[in-house]
Amino acid sequence: MQLYNTLSAEERAIMIDDAGKQRLTLSFYAYAQIPDPTQFRNDLFLAWNPLEVLGRIYVANEGINAQLSLPADNFYAFKDSIETYAFMKGIRLNIAVEQDDHSFLKLTVKVRDKIVADGLVDETFDVTNIGIHLKAKQFNELLEDPNTIVVDMRNHYESEIGHFTNAIKPDVDTFRESLPIIEDQLAAHKSDKKLLMYCTGGIRCEKASAYFKHKGFENVYQLEGGIIEYTRQVKEKGLQSKFIGKNFVFDHRLGERITDDIVSQCHQCGAACDVHTNCVNEGCHLLFIQCEKCAQLMEGCCSTTCIDVIHLPEEEQKAIRRGIKNGNMIFKKGKSDVLTFKNNKESHGTFVAEGPKMVALKEVKVKKQYIGKGTHFFPKPSVGQFLIEDNELNIGDTVLIKGITTGEQKITITEMLVNDKTADNVTAGDTCTFKLPFRIRLSDKLYKILD
Ligand SMILES: [Zn+2]
Ligand SMILES: [Zn+2]
Repeated sequence: MQLYNTLSAEERAIMIDDAGKQRLTLSFYAYAQIPDPTQFRNDLFLAWNPLEVLGRIYVANEGINAQLSLPADNFYAFKDSIETYAFMKGIRLNIAVEQDDHSFLKLTVKVRDKIVADGLVDETFDVTNIGIHLKAKQFNELLEDPNTIVVDMRNHYESEIGHFTNAIKPDVDTFRESLPIIEDQLAAHKSDKKLLMYCTGGIRCEKASAYFKHKGFENVYQLEGGIIEYTRQVKEKGLQSKFIGKNFVFDHRLGERITDDIVSQCHQCGAACDVHTNCVNEGCHLLFIQCEKCAQLMEGCCSTTCIDVIHLPEEEQKAIRRGIKNGNMIFKKGKSDVLTFKNNKESHGTFVAEGPKMVALKEVKVKKQYIGKGTHFFPKPSVGQFLIEDNELNIGDTVLIKGITTGEQKITITEMLVNDKTADNVTAGDTCTFKLPFRIRLSDKLYKILD
């Protein structure tokens, strides 16, 4: 009896291509009492493996949460397999908007304590006392209501690339963190406002709505089936999509486009961009947003440090990785000081009431553009030398020089030498020097401040 994968991801990708069958990517979840999750897990694996189901599935005493893909031809056989369980009869399967035959390359069914890590002790409240489910059309209508507060129940890296207009987007890394923060911030509006919430597929709102009702919120609503089902209904019924940008998804696609709006920026240069990537340095793997230009320039890395690492022989890279626990980096998901255009504050951000609507309060950030890096400092004349890697600098520009030892120093350029000649302008590829009242270090970053 085979209960585990026998093929590697690469072999699987080749097999999928050879089979030439169109696959469906879908997700679903159900809360239910499952007395023996391990048995349930094994039964699912045995039923789904022959149907060529691939994906990531969590089962727990409290239910099942599944993201998977399967050959479209096997869809009805798959449906039959889940409907042998009473609690999954008639369950809504969220079909992905964009299809990718390689969305998953393995079948992984895991037994967990919870199907969503919420950090909640279930005994404290009634998880079945959930909010009112809304279809896309009703959700759109309630968004227009001035007494509505709409909250994005997802994490910062998800809401960053796409969200409902006017939504409050808590700056959190995990669902667990978001609940008490939202409760705290909205404490004054438990009865006078309608609390409208949404997430990717609806599962997080099931728990969150029960939690907020338990905490005394009187008008709690949730988007049924989440952004995925909303988008399907918007398309089917020809409604206006009030969700703008991309919907972050947890398979290798990292997001599916809902509208043409680009609501985020490249974390390295600030250009409009909503393409997530993982740093190619295996020892880093940071999740961040990177435009094509920066991807080329930075060789897919999040920092110059990671570029240096990937050019080392594989053995040396492995040696560096040993002993480094990078789990923290991976789960920080884009919160790293090397990223210029990302809010890297460790705090969770706040939002306050302002008039009838709630407005997200964002820290006013200095807009800056990456120019180059420090290559030398001449202490006697107190002159810094920089290699210009991107964009350009002109006399009169104010620049920010940033580094671990240097800190953040601002200065306006009144005079400079470009390739040893006086010049008004310097562009990528050139070396330039100018006078500085402080010492710079090798690899200090040079940015132009934009107004
Ligand atoms: Zn960029
Ligand atoms: Zn990196």
